[in-house]
Amino acid sequence: MSLVLVLNSGSSSIKFQLVDPTSHATDEPFASGLVEQIGEPSGTITLKHAGEKHRIEAPIPDHAAGLDLAFTLMSEHKCGPKDVELVAVGHRTVHGGLLFNSPEVITDEIVELMRDLIPLAPLHNPANIVGIEVARELLPDIPHVAVFDTGFFHSLPPAAALYAIDAETAAEHGVRRYGFHGTSHEYVSHKVADILGRPYEDINQITLHLGNGASCAAIKGGRPIDTSMGMTPLAGLVMGTRSGDIDPGIVFHLHRTAGMSIDEIDALLNKRSGVKGISGVNDFRELRALIDEGNQDAWLAYNIYIHQLRRYIGSYMIALGRVDAITFTAGVGENADFVREDALAGLEMYGIKIDPAKNGREQIISTDDSTIKVLVVPTNEELAIARYAKTKSEAAQS
Ligand code: ADP
Repeated sequence: MSLVLVLNSGSSSIKFQLVDPTSHATDEPFASGLVEQIGEPSGTITLKHAGEKHRIEAPIPDHAAGLDLAFTLMSEHKCGPKDVELVAVGHRTVHGGLLFNSPEVITDEIVELMRDLIPLAPLHNPANIVGIEVARELLPDIPHVAVFDTGFFHSLPPAAALYAIDAETAAEHGVRRYGFHGTSHEYVSHKVADILGRPYEDINQITLHLGNGASCAAIKGGRPIDTSMGMTPLAGLVMGTRSGDIDPGIVFHLHRTAGMSIDEIDALLNKRSGVKGISGVNDFRELRALIDEGNQDAWLAYNIYIHQLRRYIGSYMIALGRVDAITFTAGVGENADFVREDALAGLEMYGIKIDPAKNGREQIISTDDSTIKVLVVPTNEELAIARYAKTKSEAAQS
C-alpha cells in the first residue's frame, strides 16, 4: 500500500499521519500521532497504529529531535517511514500569500519563497518551514509537497479580496483577504458535486467548515467568490476561542484605554474569545450540556455564534444569487445537529428546509422539496493533503 506522511508542524508540536491517499474521509489513517512540548524540559510523543496507542516521554529540544523520536517510535511498531511504502510527504502550510495558488513540490527555492511570506503569518509559517527542513533532512529521497491553506482562495475577486483601506499601505504590506481552510472547502465542495451527481462547475454552493476554527465560503460555478477568514485566521465566524469579526476600533481602545499591549490583545482575541470567552468552554458538547442545565452564559455564547453564522449565510446567498447547496463540515458541523438546525431555521421562504428526521442520520438533510440542498459532508484535510502530495510528486517525477 502506498502511503503519504502528512505533517502539520506548529511552534511547539508536530502532528503526523500516515495516510493511504485512496482511503475515504471517515477511514482511520494507517498511523497517526503527535509530538508535543518541543523545546520544554520534557515532551511527549504519542502514536496510534493498528488499534493500539503508544506513548513515550523524553526531552525534545527541537523539531528535528521530535520528528526523529516520532520515527523511532513508529519503527518500533512497524510503521516507520522505512517499514512502509512511503511515496511522498505532504506538509500542511498555513500561508501561501499571493505566491502559491496550488500545492508545490518543495525545493530549496520554494523554501526561500516561503521565508519571504513569514511577515504574513509570523506565528505559523516559521514553524511550517522548520518542519519542512527537518523532514527533508530525515527523508531526503522522498518528494516533499507543500499544501497551502490559502491556495484555494488565491483567485478571489478583488471586491472580496481587498479591504477598503489606503491602497498603497495595503499593497506594501500584503494586507488583503487570503482565506484559510482552503483544503477543506475545496475537498468538501467537490464531494458535494459528487453526491448531487452534478458537474462541479455547474453548482453554486456555501460550505461551512465549523470546527474549533471556523470559516465559510461561497463558491460560484466551481470558483470561490468569498470566504470569512481574512488576512489572518482570526476573522469571520465566531470560533471556539477566536473572536471572529469585531470592530477594529476595539483593538485601539484596549490598547489606549485598558493599557493592553499588542501581544495581550492578540492573545485575548485568539485564545480567550469566541464561544469560550463568553461561556468558559469551547467544546460544543460541553456547551450543549451547560445550555441544557440552564447556564445563561452558555446560551448567550451559542446565540452570538448562531447569529454570526446566519449573517454570513445570508450574505453569501445574496452574493451567489442562486444557491444549490449549503454544506456543514468539521467537528461541530458534522456532529452538532442542533447547530445545523438553528443555523438554517425559518428560511423556508428562501427554499431551505431541513428534515428533522434526516438531520443527524443522512448525508442530505434537507427535505425532497427543499430548493437548496443541505448536506453534511465529513472533511479530512490530511487525506486531501495526502492526495495532493501523491499527485504532485508523481507529476513532478514523470
Ligand atoms: P479543529 O479546528 O481543531 O480541526 P475539529 O474540526 O476537529 O477542530 O472540531 C473540533 C470541535 O468539534 C470540538 O471542539 C467540538 O466543539 C466539536 N465536536 C466534536 N465532536 C462533537 C460532537 N459529537 N458534538 C458536538 N460537537 C462536537
